[in-house]
Amino acid sequence: MKNIHNDYRCSCKKLLLKGFIFVGEIEIKCRFCKKTSVIKGVHAKLDCPNYYIFVTDSDGKILKSTNSALETTGYSAEEIKTKYVHDIITDIKDHMYEKIKNHLENTITRSLVFKGLQKLKNGTVSEVQVGVRSFKSQLDDQELFIFDIDQNIPKKLEKLDAKKL
Ligand SMILES: [Zn+2]
Repeated sequence: MKNIHNDYRCSCKKLLLKGFIFVGEIEIKCRFCKKTSVIKGVHAKLDCPNYYIFVTDSDGKILKSTNSALETTGYSAEEIKTKYVHDIITDIKDHMYEKIKNHLENTITRSLVFKGLQKLKNGTVSEVQVGVRSFKSQLDDQELFIFDIDQNIPKKLEKLDAKKL
């Protein structure tokens, strides 16, 4: 399955929504039984200050980011849209996106988690856990990446090795 999308169903089994909810939550009233359901996005940890998310195009250009991304990195909403993930996770190089994409397509989990080096606007560098997944935009069929960056890293996590991708 290449697309990340789900069927969200009411407890009466009627389909409420076919799609992909990335962040936040949505209330939907069932047309059949009139029950209102709350559907949560895949990223429930959104308000956690040690965690942020970028949605990027397949070149790593940042299209969307969470508020926590702005708070953590120090960039404004305008500034972050001029950045690529490799401007912030500096051990990802710009030639690596194609390799990452191929890796995601060819692994069962379709995800990649590694230890990366985060550089904030003020120059502070630290190690973080980076997760990346790919999905296809339901709007325009564009391949996109979701990067989630966690300031808390498990000890055993390995650094990204481009040769192994
Ligand atoms: Zn229903």
